[in-house]
Amino acid sequence: MDFQPDSGLEAFRQEVRQFLQTKVPADLKGLPRSTRSRCEEVMRWQKVLNAQSWGAPYWAKEHGGTGWSVPQILVFDEECGAAGTPSQDPFAQKLLGPVMNAFASPEQKAEHMPAIFNGQRLWCQGFSEPGSGSDLASLKTRAELVKSVDGDHYVVNGQKIWTSYAHESDWIFLLVRTNPEVKKQAGISFLLVDMKTPGITVRPIRSIDDAHHLNEVFFDDVRVPVKNLVGAEGQGWNITKFLLNNEHATTADLPVQKRYMQQLRQLATTQRMGGDRLIERPEFALKLARLDAELQALGMFVQRVAKMEQEHNPASHVLGSMLKIRGTELQQKISEAMVEALGDYGAVAYPDPHEDLDPAQPLLPLQEVARSMANNMFFHRASTIYGGTSEVQRSIIAKMLFHL
Ligand SMILES: Cc1cc2nc3c(=O)[nH]c(=O)nc-3n(C[C@H](O)[C@H](O)[C@H](O)COP(=O)(O)OP(=O)(O)OC[C@H]3O[C@@H](n4cnc5c(N)ncnc54)[C@H](O)[C@@H]3O)c2cc1C
Repeated sequence: MDFQPDSGLEAFRQEVRQFLQTKVPADLKGLPRSTRSRCEEVMRWQKVLNAQSWGAPYWAKEHGGTGWSVPQILVFDEECGAAGTPSQDPFAQKLLGPVMNAFASPEQKAEHMPAIFNGQRLWCQGFSEPGSGSDLASLKTRAELVKSVDGDHYVVNGQKIWTSYAHESDWIFLLVRTNPEVKKQAGISFLLVDMKTPGITVRPIRSIDDAHHLNEVFFDDVRVPVKNLVGAEGQGWNITKFLLNNEHATTADLPVQKRYMQQLRQLATTQRMGGDRLIERPEFALKLARLDAELQALGMFVQRVAKMEQEHNPASHVLGSMLKIRGTELQQKISEAMVEALGDYGAVAYPDPHEDLDPAQPLLPLQEVARSMANNMFFHRASTIYGGTSEVQRSIIAKMLFHL
């Protein structure tokens, strides 16, 4: 594969840089972009992008997207990562949006898509349940169709778990069991649910990084209008397979990893151990060089998957699973090295970087770095679990190689 710079892509990079320099407010740049952005930042960033007609960077032109090629998307992500902009709503952009474009009715698109473009509505993903994570098709949350004079609706009962940002989301896309009598995959449907509907209870789960990203969501006799069913009843599993197959090349979160690596290099040249700068200690210099080499290899891997996705090569799915494993394992290694480089500062537990600090007790500059890094290191323990565990990805690779 040819890794020479592409001049068309360079012109595009300049266009993105110029946009970031001239059109993006200063307070939406240089943000920590650790595990997530604050929701008000996500919404403001979405509006800025939409004003530039870049509200949906990952979607085709016919769906109101930019129509960018996969390499252009990677350049866009990389430049935004380097500028420290907020993230977009990943659930709306990368998961729900493509589903809506492919399966939703014109009425559903008219109701939901403008709010996604304008940054007025945030979404969360209600798939996993206690006992149904890797084995998602065994999910039990029940939706029963009820015919009534004031409009046919589903009555939803059950529980979801690990629902990221449910407490900050306006709507949830939900997998439910509409038919318990058929083969488990065939009885699943895909619903859109307003989080303000009576009967929904969100309970926080505090994670190991001492932050609140995760939740349990309970559904007690929640009435969902039939018009909120996406696709046909029983089509939920096919929609899910489509959703999970999207966006392989961006799963490695390369821009964020590059940023961490840059911070790690800076720390290595400033932090001292036993009188030496870390970079002068052979064992740390070797670790840094290895991580750098792995990151470069990951970058090439991403380019390769991007090219295959661009060519609609089905083997990109198996490489996508490999990318998920390599990307998330590297994320863990880099964040561990960051904490090691922070020395004593890395050993302290800090409050959630997104919670406001007591202004009477400002942090020292190194504590500020440690605040997001130590929490990041803890949060990244989960990156080999969410989005499909590494073990399950390995099974997918094995199965697909067997069938190639
Ligand atoms: C930080 C975080 C955010 C998340 N956000 C969301 C969200 O927003 N929405 C949502 O719906 N879900 C979310 N999840 C849930 C996530 O998708 C599940 O945790 C994941 O699919 C694993 O399911 P599980 O936790 O039930 O573990 P299990 O499936 O019970 O797995 C337990 C262990 O067994 C292994 N295992 C299971 N099956 C196999 C197999 N067939 N072969 C080999 N090993 C196997 C797994 O690899 C794992 O090590 C999130 C999870 C985390 C940690």
